[in-house]
Amino acid sequence: MSFDYLLSAEQLALKEEIKDFVGWVPRQTILDMDADIIKFPKELLKEAARRNLLGCRHPREWGGRGMDWVANCMAVEEIGTLGYEIACVFGVGADLVCDAIILHGTTEQKEKYVRPLLRGDIFAAECLTEPRGGSDFFGATTTAVDRGDHFLLNGQKRFIVGGEGADYFLVYARTDTRPEAKPQKAITCFIVDRGPGVETKYLYGLMGCRGGGTARLVFKDAVIPKENVLGQVNGAHAVFETMMIPERLGTAAMTIGTARVALDVATHYTTRRRAFGQKISSFQGVSFQIAEAATLLDASRAMAYATARAVDAGIGMERVRRMISESKKFITESCQKIVHNSMQVVGGIGYTNVLPLERIYRDVRLASIWTGTSEVMSMIIAHEWYREYQQRRELGARNFTADALESAAEDEIIYE
Ligand SMILES: Cc1cc2nc3c(=O)[nH]c(=O)nc-3n(C[C@H](O)[C@H](O)[C@H](O)COP(=O)(O)OP(=O)(O)OC[C@H]3O[C@@H](n4cnc5c(N)ncnc54)[C@H](O)[C@@H]3O)c2cc1C
Repeated sequence: MSFDYLLSAEQLALKEEIKDFVGWVPRQTILDMDADIIKFPKELLKEAARRNLLGCRHPREWGGRGMDWVANCMAVEEIGTLGYEIACVFGVGADLVCDAIILHGTTEQKEKYVRPLLRGDIFAAECLTEPRGGSDFFGATTTAVDRGDHFLLNGQKRFIVGGEGADYFLVYARTDTRPEAKPQKAITCFIVDRGPGVETKYLYGLMGCRGGGTARLVFKDAVIPKENVLGQVNGAHAVFETMMIPERLGTAAMTIGTARVALDVATHYTTRRRAFGQKISSFQGVSFQIAEAATLLDASRAMAYATARAVDAGIGMERVRRMISESKKFITESCQKIVHNSMQVVGGIGYTNVLPLERIYRDVRLASIWTGTSEVMSMIIAHEWYREYQQRRELGARNFTADALESAAEDEIIYE
């Protein structure tokens, strides 16, 4: 199903521009990234910037196009068709890091770090995860100690896309190290320039999503000027909270693009390949797997656009947090199933590098792990669901539990 009817004329025009960019990207770039020959695709990002395709959601005054989340979802879905890692590097700097600086930064920070990034002159990475763990964000052990006119940053971050290649990093570090400090009020977000005390220590050999410079960074007495604090000291919670939208909704949308390609490849193949004297698409065992994948694809898109619209409507984090987490979990897992089905119906050749399915299969495995695992999403969904249920009851919602013939038999409903 085409979701173009949901898009405005301006959004459709952007889609055409992105398709043109997608058509421009050399096949060799995709292959060289997967082979780790390209460590970080600067030329590709520069070309996207030259076409003003980076950060289309950001205000025009900082180099964006002032578009909305629906446009953003469409854009990253299209970019995702090029390959998952291209969508990752496309999103991390322009979408995530710039978003944080635009929402929480000073005019000087936006001038210095957003405008040149959207112009393709510099590159950025986001550093939350530590070797100690990523899910427990507020357990961060990287520290930044106040030394008067600067902070001294020490610690490590790992799995950082753009760890190799980025010019500056958004780093979360503990600034209140008192044991009694509340974790939510003890962390500060910093803009850290690559320079003395900032070292790219280890480049990971990844199952997929290669070519994005995914690395471990070590900070050793790195001097961070006070003007590079993003938002408030000990106030990283506010930055982290807003970043959940581009991190998770962006991840969901780009995964749709990548899975769409797998389904395309499988659809093409199954309408040509023959077995037992027939096209394999005529076997229900094959076509029903395609049907399941197509349904999941459309359901994923519907969910992504509904969530995007909710964010665009500005209804607030309180109400969109669950939708975003559900989108991240449902869409990434559905897309993995789409890719699984696509490979299954193609058979053995799908498992080789003669077709792109094996690369896509390796790549999308990341989707339900990074930017918050499916388990973390479930934690948030459950928490928000119970909270909302309680609110509904307090607002006088009907008690459906009483709609049963024997509902007066209270002795039979045992809670404890
Ligand atoms: C290729 C790649 C790129 C990445 N890019 C970046 C990046 O650019 N920047 C960045 O900051 N990070 C990045 N990450 C890190 C990624 O976000 C983390 O790997 C992820 O958040 C999980 O953290 P972890 O690996 O430390 O696992 P852990 O937090 O140790 O979790 C391990 C397992 O325990 C489960 N678990 C943990 N806590 C709970 C709980 N309370 N309830 C139920 N289950 C739980 C998790 O779901 C997971 O299955 C990247 C990772 C990879 C692999």
